[in-house]
Amino acid sequence: MNECIFCRIIKGQILAHKLYENDNVFVFLDINPYTRGHTLVIPKKHYQDIFDIPDKELEILIKEVKKVAELQRDKLKVKDINIFQRNGLLAGQEVDHIHFHVVPRYENDEVEMLPRGQYTGKDFEEVIKLLTR
Ligand code: 5GP
Ligand code: ZN
Repeated sequence: MNECIFCRIIKGQILAHKLYENDNVFVFLDINPYTRGHTLVIPKKHYQDIFDIPDKELEILIKEVKKVAELQRDKLKVKDINIFQRNGLLAGQEVDHIHFHVVPRYENDEVEMLPRGQYTGKDFEEVIKLLTR
């Protein structure tokens, strides 16, 4: 069976550098880091993405993400940290087990995040109409 790579990491079937775990989450270093200390925070239960995970479990997960950010701030002595999460192919999600990236930022680390664009024509108004609640 083709089991999810992160589920296999949690079970210890694939080696990963675990920082810590508890009943709910597993925290480990990304194998191809954006920067030194780039960490992944995942729930122990397999959920595909932000739509799949129940709110209660997401709450637990995001609180843990904050703890990891604090850990990086205190131990790596960084002030600036990116936190992000991808959903789906077009968003670049490579592993279908929800995960938050916690990426410490360093002076001149030369990591570029997503490029920005501009709205054209009536698109700005249309998007506002669609998304305003
Ligand atoms: P995504 O692109 O899905 O947001 O991020 C998946 C992340 O998982 C990537 O940053 C990638 O480097 C990391 N990754 C993929 N396979 C492994 C692995 O076997 N071990 C570890 N530690 N990280 C992995
Ligand atoms: Zn999984």
